[in-house]
Amino acid sequence: MTRARPNLLGLVPDDLHNVAAEHFRERGEPGYRARQLVEWIQGGQTCSFAQMRNLPLRERDALEERFRLEEPREHTVSESVDGTVKHLWSLGDGEVVESVLIPSGRRLTLCISSQAGCALACRFCATGWSGFGRQLSTAEIVGQYRASARWAATRELGTITNIVFMGMGEPLANRKAVLPALTVLNSGYGVGARRITVSTVGVIPGIAALAARPEQFRLALSLHAPVSSLRAELIPLERRYPLDELIVALEEFSRSGGRRVTFEYTMIRGVNDEVSLIRPLAELALRVAAFVNLIPFNPIPYMEWRPSAPQRVRAFRDGLREAGVAAEARAPRGRDIDAACGQLRAAKVGRRPSAL
Ligand code: SAH
Repeated sequence: MTRARPNLLGLVPDDLHNVAAEHFRERGEPGYRARQLVEWIQGGQTCSFAQMRNLPLRERDALEERFRLEEPREHTVSESVDGTVKHLWSLGDGEVVESVLIPSGRRLTLCISSQAGCALACRFCATGWSGFGRQLSTAEIVGQYRASARWAATRELGTITNIVFMGMGEPLANRKAVLPALTVLNSGYGVGARRITVSTVGVIPGIAALAARPEQFRLALSLHAPVSSLRAELIPLERRYPLDELIVALEEFSRSGGRRVTFEYTMIRGVNDEVSLIRPLAELALRVAAFVNLIPFNPIPYMEWRPSAPQRVRAFRDGLREAGVAAEARAPRGRDIDAACGQLRAAKVGRRPSAL
């Protein structure tokens, strides 16, 4: 009987060192072999034990027999005229997830997924509409980063400088895989904690878990509505984690180590862009000392909703600034390749929302 070979990409650095050290000790190999293996893994250039040239052949074979280094496989790649690159990855069991590379000046931001699909069913989000597939493993999250980093390097896009958990899924509803993935990306692959942003629609226990971490990971809240009646219409999670409790959790988060929270506010014409909402939005932002990103809604299939007019977005930005809130209006990226969250998977899974 063959036992399942563990995927080493999912181990946090301490565990990876221990597993490697024990493996080579059992085989009577010198102590430095473990370090060599860890360097190959964290260097990210290869997923193949066979290519680890400084290890003896018999050791490469033995590793292959006992472990895996498995990344998601490229299913589709689409490149936008604005430089944004979207990958659809196959996970081996038929599930697919997306990640997006976004070059911007000296930055190269990678947007990754934490779940195949999503269970939270926010009305404006294509991922929610295609339903929940399953949780991703730590290895599958880290694998998106590794595969994207190699893709970017071979096309001379440079090094990934920032990571945002703004792909498919709710990262704080998959803490079992996401919290270790943060450790792997930060202390294994050397991406600074302040350059890694976890984006949540408001899972309070997850916000507390992130606040308890010593590293300064950043937090973005997908707010989209500054009053609870409107939030309930857009985000079903309001019933479980209401806005007032959420804001208290965010106040605690920003007190823990002075970390700035970002509010994401997707502006939908006639839905959440009444000028009367500027004031309550400013009040929440001031309580949490949040930075506000205003993002025009990206139209999705089966939905009539449209983005707010540019003047309205500017009115929000200016109104927030007058109230003393740091706010920016963002240009949408990658529209021509459906780069908005979940659109490619929705097209592939092809599920029509039952709510409509
Ligand atoms: N579940 C997490 C992360 C994934 S969504 C979260 O909600 O934060 C990443 C961002 O894309 C969120 O801010 C989400 O609200 C936004 N988004 C989803 N659908 C969108 C659309 N059609 N247009 C613009 N932004 C959208």
